[in-house]
Amino acid sequence: MKSIWQWYTGMSFMVKMTGGFLIGILLGVVLGDYSSFLAPLGSLFLNLLKMIVIPLVVFSLMVAVNHSNPKELGRIGLKIFPFYLLSTGVAVVIGILLAKITNPGAGFSLPTEVVMDTPARPSFIDTLLGMVPSNIFSAFANGDILAVVFVSVVFGLAILFMRHSTDKKQQEMGEFLFKLLEAGNEVVSKVLSGILVYAPIGVLGITANTFGTQGFDTAIALGKFIGTSYLGVLVLVGVAFPIMMKLFGIKVIQFYKDIKEAAFTSFVTSSSIGTLPVTIKCAEKAGIGERVAKLTLPIGATINMNGTAIRFGVAVIFAAEIMGMTLSTPELATIVIIGTMAAVGTAGVPGAGLIGMSIVFTQAGLPIEIVALTAGINILVDMIFTFGNVVGDLVGAKIVDQSEKHKDAPVDAEESLVLNEA
Ligand code: ASP
Repeated sequence: MKSIWQWYTGMSFMVKMTGGFLIGILLGVVLGDYSSFLAPLGSLFLNLLKMIVIPLVVFSLMVAVNHSNPKELGRIGLKIFPFYLLSTGVAVVIGILLAKITNPGAGFSLPTEVVMDTPARPSFIDTLLGMVPSNIFSAFANGDILAVVFVSVVFGLAILFMRHSTDKKQQEMGEFLFKLLEAGNEVVSKVLSGILVYAPIGVLGITANTFGTQGFDTAIALGKFIGTSYLGVLVLVGVAFPIMMKLFGIKVIQFYKDIKEAAFTSFVTSSSIGTLPVTIKCAEKAGIGERVAKLTLPIGATINMNGTAIRFGVAVIFAAEIMGMTLSTPELATIVIIGTMAAVGTAGVPGAGLIGMSIVFTQAGLPIEIVALTAGINILVDMIFTFGNVVGDLVGAKIVDQSEKHKDAPVDAEESLVLNEA
């Protein structure tokens, strides 16, 4: 028994994850619908990841803020948000262009029996206001990551100001709280390491259940839609991101090697937020500065959805073909904007992209019944879109980090002066 444990823990994480994935596919194919008895193994893994996400975001953000200063926070924000918008816009365009070539909607007709509710479109102002929770505890309990980010930054800043205060008592209390945060950070990281030991078994459960219970007939009928989605993410990750990274002098292959564990975890969990603990771990491996990683990645996991944006591009052309419509260039340009906004509003959880798709269709005047056509194969495409989302988060963090390199000094005398005056 002891030697099995030693063998298991001694193996590299990636080998174990790939093993879990491959055995999962095999079991899924062999057992078919019966494989659903393995689903709890996957749910346990997802629950464990979700369990650690909030403490991880809270402690790591508060510590990161305390290793930083308000000027730097503002600067990082001003860099990462334009990246998110630009890369998401580019992703919608890639989806549209590829779908124009592959014609995924050819041969389909509008489903008549399905009735779907039109989802309400969250307004931009509501999204912004939603970041400021009226009740901290309900924000935490609901796992509302953007609100948790906001609270952590505000409280982290308060502690930072206390530590740099001229008042001795405030300074002492600030230092005490900072020590507590650092200790909390250590605890979270220990728990996370334990969860990752279990990860390959969880992956086996998820994969067996996905491959065993999915109807392959629908997958074949929607083959072009699925193929275009995978191709789109491949172009994004294999062409668009490398170009962006090269512009900043980043070694692309090495970077991808460093982040492979997060990329893989995102693929099997279909959840950017669930993957976040692994994403943050990989960022460290990829040499992304702690402050940039911990400040940007929780936000990225919530609002930066590059893969999902590809779905919107492909889906709009898919729907237009079914309806026999040809969209003009200005109409397509509007869809790029709508798609970008809808991607920002899409939550980093499994299946959220389907809701986003309904929003895009409603805005673009396309029948949302077509969304239902793709629902059956959603699990298969969700995996690759989430992969695109998480890789995008890490690419953004790496680019911002690269541009911060020459400024990577700790809070210096001049800046602490700014803090004291504030
Ligand atoms: N599942 C995706 C994610 O968590 C979101 C989506 O459904 O597109 O990143």
